[in-house]
Amino acid sequence: MLSVGVKSDKGKVRQRNEDSYCARDNLFAVADGLGGHLAGEVASKLAIDELVRGIEENPLPGLEEFEKIFHQANRQICQLAEANPQYHGMGTTLTAIQILEDRVLLGHVGDSRAYLYRGGELCQLTVDHSLSGELYRKGELSEQEAEHHPQKHVLTRALGTFQEVDVDTSSFRLGVGDLLLLCTDGLHGKVSGEELSAILAERDDPQITAERLVEAALAKGGQDNITVIVIKNDEDELVDYEFSLELDEILEKFQTPIGVS
Ligand code: MN
Repeated sequence: MLSVGVKSDKGKVRQRNEDSYCARDNLFAVADGLGGHLAGEVASKLAIDELVRGIEENPLPGLEEFEKIFHQANRQICQLAEANPQYHGMGTTLTAIQILEDRVLLGHVGDSRAYLYRGGELCQLTVDHSLSGELYRKGELSEQEAEHHPQKHVLTRALGTFQEVDVDTSSFRLGVGDLLLLCTDGLHGKVSGEELSAILAERDDPQITAERLVEAALAKGGQDNITVIVIKNDEDELVDYEFSLELDEILEKFQTPIGVS
């Protein structure tokens, strides 16, 4: 059984919340809009709407079909931006998870993040498509430097900026007791991996966990919009988990575990 907690907060500085999200049935996603003056909000909402529509049309997608929904959303946002001068330059991140029985499909563009908390370890399942993220992966910045880089928020990939976009996808088996966390950079830009780990380690009700995560980001200034989805897999009838090969491959491809509680 999945239990879910969601919290989205405009933070302490911004006038509006340009993040959008969905958490329904087995579909979970966060989107962080760019472009200011309503455009960011429009882009992130459109991405979520297109995702929901895509899943309604095809509730049991394979990974390729899941990726196609991202491309479709990208084209829709591009079209709207081209047709309306006030939306020129808008774009959005989109990090989405679809859970089909014990399979997790993950799609990702931008600098929102997905994490898996399993067996006391927090693993980042996505890479940031940002300038500092790219420099970090090339070895030109340390993790610390990347976290505090002045161009941390400059995205190298987003939906809605080009007709074609590369989408990162992966798939792995959900384990008993797993926690999944989706968040926008309003959370991970403020709260370190160690702190995220410590909050997730409490294994509270997911709604309480989501609220605690948002409070932690607010306590550090809350300069950005903050959106958090926490998904907990409590079902003990599912296949007993082991660190599956596929997950090891994902982690190798993407990131090393950060922080052990
Ligand atoms: Mn943001």
